[in-house]
Amino acid sequence: MKTFTFTCELPNGVHARPANHVETLCNNFTSEIKWTNERTGITGNAKSVLSLIGTDTLYKDSCTISIEGADEGEAYEKVKQFIDTEFEHCDAPLETGGEDAGEFLPLPRNFSNLQAEHVRGRAVSGGFGQGLLVRVGAVNFDSLTDLPAAKSAKEEEAQLQVGFETLARTFKVQLASAAATEADVVKAHLAIVRDVEFKATLDGNLADGASAAEAVIATAKHYSAQLQNSASAYMRERELDIRDVCFQLLQAIYGEEKFSNQLTLKGPTVCVADDLTPSQFLELDKSLLKGLILTRGGSTSHTVILARSFAIPTLVGVDEAKLGDKLGAQVLVDGDLGLVVTDITEPVARYYEQEQRVQDAVKDRQAAFRDQKGMTADGKPVELAANIAHSIEAFPAFKNGAEAIGLFRTEMLYMDRTSAPDEDELYNIYCQAIEAAEGKSIIIRTIDIGGDKPVDYLKIPAENNPFLGYRAVRIYEEFSDLFKEQLRSILRASAHGSLKIMIPMISSLEEILWVKDVLAEIRQDLRKEHIPFDEKIPLGIMVEVPSVAFIIDQCCEEVDFFSIGSNDLTQYLMAVDRDNAKVTKHYNSLNPAFLRTLDHIVSSVHRHGKWVGLCGELGAKGSVLPLLIGMGLDEISMSAPSIPATKERVSKLDSRECRILLNKAMECRTSLEVEHLLAQFRMEQSDAPLVSQECITLDVDLRSKEEVIKTLSDNLFLAGRCRYRDKLADDLWAREDVFSTGLGFGFAIPHTKSEHIEQSAISVSRLAQPIQWGDEEAQFIIMLTLNKHAAGDQHMKIFSKLARRIMQEEFRKKLMNAGSVADVEATLKKELELS
Ligand code: PEP
Ligand code: MG
Repeated sequence: MKTFTFTCELPNGVHARPANHVETLCNNFTSEIKWTNERTGITGNAKSVLSLIGTDTLYKDSCTISIEGADEGEAYEKVKQFIDTEFEHCDAPLETGGEDAGEFLPLPRNFSNLQAEHVRGRAVSGGFGQGLLVRVGAVNFDSLTDLPAAKSAKEEEAQLQVGFETLARTFKVQLASAAATEADVVKAHLAIVRDVEFKATLDGNLADGASAAEAVIATAKHYSAQLQNSASAYMRERELDIRDVCFQLLQAIYGEEKFSNQLTLKGPTVCVADDLTPSQFLELDKSLLKGLILTRGGSTSHTVILARSFAIPTLVGVDEAKLGDKLGAQVLVDGDLGLVVTDITEPVARYYEQEQRVQDAVKDRQAAFRDQKGMTADGKPVELAANIAHSIEAFPAFKNGAEAIGLFRTEMLYMDRTSAPDEDELYNIYCQAIEAAEGKSIIIRTIDIGGDKPVDYLKIPAENNPFLGYRAVRIYEEFSDLFKEQLRSILRASAHGSLKIMIPMISSLEEILWVKDVLAEIRQDLRKEHIPFDEKIPLGIMVEVPSVAFIIDQCCEEVDFFSIGSNDLTQYLMAVDRDNAKVTKHYNSLNPAFLRTLDHIVSSVHRHGKWVGLCGELGAKGSVLPLLIGMGLDEISMSAPSIPATKERVSKLDSRECRILLNKAMECRTSLEVEHLLAQFRMEQSDAPLVSQECITLDVDLRSKEEVIKTLSDNLFLAGRCRYRDKLADDLWAREDVFSTGLGFGFAIPHTKSEHIEQSAISVSRLAQPIQWGDEEAQFIIMLTLNKHAAGDQHMKIFSKLARRIMQEEFRKKLMNAGSVADVEATLKKELELS
């Protein structure tokens, strides 16, 4: 027997991935190879992943490997060499897809002062929601009832074997198209299926008379218990691997009808998952899903896009270990600040009640715009449409005020299943959307499969550069049956409503001509078969590959309309992978080069009398909207919840002023200059008085300085005087940090000169009860917010006058005893000599 001892240098200990490397190597030898963890005293079989994991080997544990058998000499040499040189490197750092805590934006002071217990994540879908924290993706074996009864031992054994083989095949298919990290996970799962100890445990359970289902469940529980006892939080999480594999094994044996994914929500819930497939997301009851936390996932993944369209607050890149023991507890996901509150104290609850009030007020105001057409202040129409990925989203989109569907991404209909949907299934889905549209038009984009959007059953090999690879229109020729079936189903559905066909990822005229030939062929077939369809169905293309921008004139001869895919166009023009967090800062659509490209596209299309929209995520960015309006786009399509706000914003813009702004932006040298230009533009937009009733509140129940500053900043936001209320509040806090602004006599005058107030303002809050304000008590707060860029010092003089007046008792009394908001307004205007 040969032995050697070493120290485990893996930061996460021996979990499935590194264990898999050890197991694979050891299985090359006939000798018996054992792994002993000296700390726990547990010895495991080094040829079994599960057995290795069971040794609970953690970082810096001392371990001994002993080898005994015919080839022990060679095995010793190879295994020792592996442990000495490679073992340390065989586990990549855990991928969270998110930034380090240090990279998150600082939290607003009104929130951070509450010192709420929280975990950060990258915010990818806004709003906030509270519910019970539940893990999805994993399975609760205790809730599996009505198990199939045991037949003969032989039959059960045979069933189990078939299940094993099916699952192994599935994993192999997944491996073929998986990206690196994902592939490692699949490999680890495959290793569990092949694990000798795993099989032995299952067989042991079968031998005790259990059915295959009972044996799988008992085995899952056995290993889960073993891993749950691990000293490492990370290892305890690996228990999910076992549960995942065992549940998939049950599905492989009995089918997904019998063991459907357990995604039934029972009440308001916040779901946490490593990553959720779009179909898993669609399965969740959206009325109960209050928030979504993904440990992985990018900001433009399709699940995230879906979450946005259902307005589910969503974070990605959350370190689940930090959520610790919060499963089953109430948590709150804030998709704007990018955090999960794990202890909802009273001040936190009051903070979010105030947030809710702001959101409700915004919603009510926007409701007025919902059913109006998108129109600028000078009467220029801009169609505001919705992006959807399934027909079930169409109805809520139109309810949100969508004037059309500007992008129906259809690839999701093909993903997360074992075969493509057939023509009738697609036809029914399109008809469902048509029904919701009630005559409004729907742009159906043909499949954008391939590259980063894998569909297992097409067996498209993994690629090094998927975004530059075999994707969208580029795969249609090879999968022409699939493409033709889709075209047939769209054409058939076009008999019932207003459909348009759009082709993604066009980069040359050849592709357009080829598509048109196929389309002509399908039309001919349908005519022959006397199947009705819209003979005039428009054909359009996505403009997302920069080459198309230079052949717009030629494209205009062949197609009816264009839609700019700003997500891809940005990544291709700037050479920045849209899902790579490391290069996000270069993914900037305010870059003058990008703006010039967009303007060139729109003006070229219009020169040829054709129609052009934009359907990337950029369309929902309020700050960029003046530039898009300046370009003269015919339509902007976005996730449905953004539509009412965009309609309101559009209604306040003058298209001619926007054009001048765009011209200036295109002359800027950097994105930052464009940003400043936009800020300046916003500031000049309105002309509001210094004192107005919207910014005065009387006898309100505010209990802290934080609540006062937040409420008054929120009022300014609701009055349209500031866009970033948290930033304005931070500026006020910066002043409070230097000296508290309590004046005595129950008065306080928080103040700031800030770039975040677009129109200088005097805000007032008379509180129901005095509160502590620094060393003083205060009940009457007058907040002064002065625009940083405002010309002259007129406002400054008014503010000084106000400060002098407050020192006079009579003035204070008038304010303290004012009977109404109008009284306060009149008193201030009179005393400060404002017209
Ligand atoms: C785009 O690229 O902007 C677009 C809308 O398409 P997708 O995000 O589906 O690639
Ligand atoms: Mg695209």
